[in-house]
Amino acid sequence: MRMSRYFLPVLKENPSEAQIVSHRLMLRAGLIKQSAAGIYSWLPMGFKILRKLENIVHEEQARAGHLAMLMPTIQSADLWHESGRYDAFGDEMLRLKDRGGREMLFTPTAEELITDIFRSHVSSYKDLPLTLYQIQWKFRDEVRPRFGVMRGREFLMKDGYNFDLTKEDALHSYNRHLVTYLRTYERMGLQAIPMRADSGAMGGDNTHEFLVLAETGESEVFYDSAVTDLSFGDREIDYGSVADCAAVMEEFTTKYARTDETHDETLFNAVPEERRRRARGIEVGQIFYFGTKYSEAMGATVQGPDGKSTAVHMGSHGIGVSRLLGAIIEASHDEKGIIWPEGVTPFHAGIVNLKQGDAEADAACDALYSALELLGLDPLYDDRKERAGGKFASMDLIGLPWRITVGPRGLKNGVVELTCRRTGDSEELPPEAAVQKLAQIYAGIA
Ligand code: ATP
Ligand code: MG
Repeated sequence: MRMSRYFLPVLKENPSEAQIVSHRLMLRAGLIKQSAAGIYSWLPMGFKILRKLENIVHEEQARAGHLAMLMPTIQSADLWHESGRYDAFGDEMLRLKDRGGREMLFTPTAEELITDIFRSHVSSYKDLPLTLYQIQWKFRDEVRPRFGVMRGREFLMKDGYNFDLTKEDALHSYNRHLVTYLRTYERMGLQAIPMRADSGAMGGDNTHEFLVLAETGESEVFYDSAVTDLSFGDREIDYGSVADCAAVMEEFTTKYARTDETHDETLFNAVPEERRRRARGIEVGQIFYFGTKYSEAMGATVQGPDGKSTAVHMGSHGIGVSRLLGAIIEASHDEKGIIWPEGVTPFHAGIVNLKQGDAEADAACDALYSALELLGLDPLYDDRKERAGGKFASMDLIGLPWRITVGPRGLKNGVVELTCRRTGDSEELPPEAAVQKLAQIYAGIA
């Protein structure tokens, strides 16, 4: 993409309404624009990152055999009356009436609808296990929408639902989801720690939230610092193996890590003092096992191997896809702007032309641009007639992990400059070598 043809409305001033750094930087970098309290338009670069996050979620779900689908945002209230949650949900639910006066609502989550789909089409244990999920916009009329996309009213959520014959099978699904979530967040360059949480309105007693540590997080958390040494890495997992998934669950959830809702001072005090941490975190996902709560209330049963009708065991799982943009920025920025992890960056590298209009510099930039594209990389070329200082400031603000700087002086010596956004380190090297180096960095990521 050439900057001169892109729509990137970067702001020079700090927007006064933004209280936290991620909100400020998302507005300044031209990623989003607020349209009403807690409701945002996603401008081209913000939308591009959102799509990248969605792709990672889809790939990791597919790896585990979970099936993508899409349910409507506007639902009839009938199913919600049936489950008893129409009234229980309270003012967070946006209620609507259609022209016939029928009660409708904008989906805040989709347990009811998915359970209805299940009971309409699945009647035998032979069709289990089954995990269905979607990535769809949700609406919750939050009392205090704030922090930009972190606590919006309209937000993009991945929500998934598993259906299993027995509790044992459902617990395997639970563990398998934990594995997929660990991988998902790591690919986004995030450390999200699974913490024992409270199941609240969802019911059931097995639930973990995934928290990204950040001072601006809304949750208070308590943990054994040893959990921050854990990483999933690139290990191979057989998702069908009960033992494999249980081992990961054990490894990642045995050490103390809890939100304030489930915090237990006595257990916490058993952690060696130097490893006890009290901090704040951003909830980027949650997994639940809630047994037969919805299936019994809504008649989601199958015929078991013994011929008897039995209510299925269910769980649900959510990832805050739009909130993740804010969480990644909270975890990865400096005073100059955003620093995107390679796995989610909107463009792989920026090209800065120090002397736009100089025939040699222009030709070198064009050649770099084509060479990167040929290797499947996606560069952003700042081809505007602006001062170098302004171009560097924009690149730093939008946070591409790598920048290639091209100027007449370097070209005389046959070199360009490759700069790492995170460390600030630069090296001079021939253009072909810079392209090769980027190809290596992104091999296996892009
Ligand atoms: P919270 O405690 O932050 O209100 P929740 O526990 O009610 O969230 P879930 O029902 O678990 O939310 O939804 C799954 C995920 O969706 C959450 O982990 C979070 O990342 C995201 N999410 C929930 N509410 C919002 C919101 N208002 N804006 C953005 N993302 C949200
Ligand atoms: Mg939650």
